[in-house]
Order: sequence, then structure tokens, then C-alpha cells
Amino acid sequence: IVSAFIAHTPGSAAAYEEARTHFPGGVTHDARYVRPHPLAIARAAGPRKWDVDGNEYVDYAGGHGALILGHAHPAVTAAVAEQLAKGTHYGANHTLETRWAELVKSMVPSAEMLRFTNSGTEATLMALRVARAATGRTKLLRLRGHFHGWHDHMAFGVTGHFDGTPTPGVLEALTENVLLVDPNDEAGLRALMAAHGDEIAVAILEPTGSSYGQVPLRDSFVHLLREETAKHGVVLVFDEVVTGFRVARGGAQEVLGIRPDLTTLAKILAGGLPGGAVVGRRDLLELLDPERAAARGVEKIPHQGTYNANPLSAAAGIATLEILRDTDAIARAHAYAAELRSAMNGVLEELSVPWAVYGSNTGIHIFTNWKKLPITPSSFDPLALGYADLKVPRGTQVVTKLLLAMRTHGVDFSPWPGGPVSAMHGPAERDATVAAF
Ligand code: PMP
Repeated sequence: IVSAFIAHTPGSAAAYEEARTHFPGGVTHDARYVRPHPLAIARAAGPRKWDVDGNEYVDYAGGHGALILGHAHPAVTAAVAEQLAKGTHYGANHTLETRWAELVKSMVPSAEMLRFTNSGTEATLMALRVARAATGRTKLLRLRGHFHGWHDHMAFGVTGHFDGTPTPGVLEALTENVLLVDPNDEAGLRALMAAHGDEIAVAILEPTGSSYGQVPLRDSFVHLLREETAKHGVVLVFDEVVTGFRVARGGAQEVLGIRPDLTTLAKILAGGLPGGAVVGRRDLLELLDPERAAARGVEKIPHQGTYNANPLSAAAGIATLEILRDTDAIARAHAYAAELRSAMNGVLEELSVPWAVYGSNTGIHIFTNWKKLPITPSSFDPLALGYADLKVPRGTQVVTKLLLAMRTHGVDFSPWPGGPVSAMHGPAERDATVAAF
């Protein structure tokens, strides 16, 4: 498998040789790291992309989940080009940011006010700060395996650190402020809230489960979290960086019928350009307002950011969100994913491979059964397993081989493995994916 991949991608191999002289590990995002080398991409359009050797791929990387309309959507590129000619950045208020905000508020049920950031990481950092300032409390409640960006406070309970120890370079002293609960552990959540509820400033989660449903959450667990946080005055943050504008126009909160206090957004929000936002309750976000904070007798929360609400990101975000609001794009992406999951499970059944393809909405998760459990695709129930079974350690040999073999056969899955689909994937992409699989 490895030598076939190397023979297929000599240009990517050469590009990686050079990249290793510039970048640690030869990559600029950990998830792009794979041996013998990652693909070097030259261009992309719709659901497809091409590497530097001219090989074509069905794309399931989707810009790390930012591209529900596929690559280079004509409405998005036109909006960006139009803005580009008027200037890339003003360092000032502009009308696009207002239109962008209006759209977000019209789509996301809990968005009363918002503040734009540059990324999802910045959005979760600000949500945490707002919650701590508002409550005067210190503790942060997290779910094991849930990812909220790479800043210090979220460097606990992630893959490799389920025991609650921080990742390298993060202060040990922060550990005492982080409380971890297992996903779907209702008794554990109740006990933790009974013991510490009044010290907790904020609870944050990926509302459909970690890695966009790779470890799915029961709806009842999320509802319990809403009840318990409300009871104890804890600020509940839905991290909808991935699920926002993907699970539904209003994100997972619309489908669950739950109103979080704050929501973090990024990825689709900015239509494939850099951008993020923290949105939610007016009384909480007013802590960023100099006059409102002063009227309450508190110091405002500082927040800068050179590229906040960058006009190019705003233009791409508006063009994308308008399409998602006015067309059936989200529903088409969901339908494609359901068809693909079912067709891939057909392949597994036909070949008697004890794996399963699962997911909801636009998710494609491939359970490669590293523990060799006695399952079939039709008997597989991810809710019956825990995060440790479902979160395949990155770099597990079978996952790497699967990713490389799929690439040799013209399909680029995301590394967890699988990948979110876009509204531009259709029958040709489905057939190509199934044939490669
Ligand atoms: N939260 C979630 C749920 C994410 O998936 C990610 C990124 N994959 C982030 C936060 C961080 O967003 P960003 O990469 O824009 O900093």
C-alpha cells in the first residue's frame, strides 16, 4: 500500500521533502501529518481537488470542515473578488460585518449579540473568559475527547490526555480548574454537578459529540447538561465550530431544541476564509461593551484582534450563509452522506469486513475496529461503545494504510478517518468513493 502510494505521488513526496526543511514535521496543522508524506494540493473545485502530480481526488477534507459548498463556489469567489478590489482590510467598522452579523442572528436561535474572532480557538477562549468574568467562578467542565481548539485551557481531556493531564508546555497549575466528564455518563455528570456545580463557571461541549459525532452524544445527555447548568448558574457553551450551519441552518442547537448561553462558531461561518465568532446572550456579551460594563460597575473584558471581521472573510461568509439559508444545500449534503454511509457499509458486508461506517448529518466515520469487536455494519451501535473504543488513536497502522490506499485510488478522507461531505458531492463522487473503498 505504501509503495503504491509513493509511486502514485512523486511530486507530493518532493514537496514534503522541502516542507520538512521549513516546518516541524513538515506540516502546518497536526491533522495533516501522515507518513510517508501528505498530498501537496495544487487546486480544487467543487467536491474535487488535484495534487501537484495532476492526480484528481474526491475531497473529504473539506477545508477541515469549512467548505459545505465545496471548493471555489462561484458565488463565494465572486463575493471575495468584489471585496478584494475594494480593499482587503480597513481596521475599521464596515457594512459587511453588520450584514454578516444579521445573517448569523437570523439563523442561529440563541444569537442575541456577537463578537467576531479569527478562529474557533479564539472563540472558545473568549467564551471561557466571558463566562468566568460573568460568574466570578474559575472551573471549566469539559467532556472527555471533545476538542475546542489548541489554547491552554482546552489542552486537557483530548486524545492522549484522557486522564486530565495537560499537553506539553501547558501549566500543570491549570489542571485544578478543569473537570472532565465522560460523554453520556449521566450519573457522573449529576455527581460532579452536585459536588462542584457552584464553583463551575462554564461547561463546554461539541453538541453532537466529539469530532462531529465520532463519539455521538445522546440527546438526553445534552438536555441533562442544560438542566444541570441552568440549576447551578453555569454558563453553557455549545461549541458549534463544526456543527454550525452544517447540522441545520441554526446548528445542533436548532435540532436539539436547546438554547445554550453562548455558542462558538468558525469554519462554515466564514465560507472557507479565516474567521470565528462567539455569539449568545446579550447580558453576557455586553461585558465586552465599555458603557454597559461601566453601568454594571465592572471592568470590561478586553478583546482585540487585527483581523476580526476581516472584510474578505465577511464577504465569503455572507455569500455562503445566504446560500445555506435560501437553498436546500444542507439537506442535499445530509442526503449524500446517508447514501454514502449505506453504500460503504454494503462494501463491508459484501467483503465480510468487521468494520462499520456511521455518522449523522454530513458525517462519515469509519470504525476500523482496532479492538476486533464482534460486529457487523448492521449490528454496530456507536452509542454502545465509549470514547476510548471510538477514538481511534491517530497513526494506527490500519487507519494510515486506509487513508493512503484511498488516496492512491483517488479519494482523500479526513484523518479520523472519514470526513464531512459537501452539498456539491453527487452520484459521480459517491460511485468513485465506493469503488475505491
Ligand atoms: N472547536 C471545534 C469543535 C473544532 O473542531 C475546532 C477545529 N477543528 C476548533 C474548535 C478550533 O477551531 P480553529 O481551528 O478555527 O481554531
